[in-house]
Amino acid sequence: MESNKKKDIFQPLTSGTFRFSCHREVPCFTRCCAKLRLVLTPYDIVRLRKRLGITSGEFLEQYTDTLLREHPRFPMVKLKMLDDEGQRCPFVTKEGCTIYEDRPGACRLYPIGRASMLVSDKQDPKEQYFVIREDHCEGFKEEKVWTIDDWVSHEGLRFYMEMNDRWLAILNSPKTLGPEEYLAKKHKMFFMASYDIDRFRQFIFKSRFFSLFEIPPEKRQELASTDESLLLFAYDWLKFSLFGEKTLTPRTD
Ligand code: SF4
Ligand code: SF4
Repeated sequence: MESNKKKDIFQPLTSGTFRFSCHREVPCFTRCCAKLRLVLTPYDIVRLRKRLGITSGEFLEQYTDTLLREHPRFPMVKLKMLDDEGQRCPFVTKEGCTIYEDRPGACRLYPIGRASMLVSDKQDPKEQYFVIREDHCEGFKEEKVWTIDDWVSHEGLRFYMEMNDRWLAILNSPKTLGPEEYLAKKHKMFFMASYDIDRFRQFIFKSRFFSLFEIPPEKRQELASTDESLLLFAYDWLKFSLFGEKTLTPRTD
């Protein structure tokens, strides 16, 4: 019974379009911003901690729980709902989402779901979309019809998806993590480089990192100036340190 119900909620997007609109006048406005299992991606955290004016470490401490069983190999992080009866998202008010411009990718995509697989960094991801048709959502009764492309543009999702797909390629990598004795260390490294970008920045700028790897001065400059390039570099570092991929070049001198 439960699985049939779930099957009904997730509907394939066969026609390529869906009817939906979400605005302050819908009777269910903000009803979906509660009791969520909202798993955050590294790019979500980069945006959220900047929006809130705190460090990634402070954000993780105040706003998230770590999930150890969500993924078979790596720790995941989810947004903590408020600890009250309604279990609302900490960012929702009657007026709507208070961090709207920096809301997580999953909130932007809803009521659409996306399964994607980045086969190689040089190819476009294989992707599949479906509609999440939940009973409480009255947005499906509205008139507006969307294509997926229009929805992705409207919600500012393209860059989120690009960043997230690169991280998903690490999560879904078939490569081994190597001997058991290094696993705890590798999990810690995964957590820091994925979720705690301010600590990762210190890790590379306040250690011997640049004396150990070939990284040109202009690249260092770029890493120091934007969170996005630092995060992409963190992904390269993870591929190198977790799986032994040749994404970085050790110095030989
Ligand atoms: S982050 Fe914003 S859109 Fe997402 S659940 Fe919270 S209030 Fe709703
Ligand atoms: S339940 Fe649907 S229509 Fe209502 S606020 Fe949430 S997304 Fe919008």
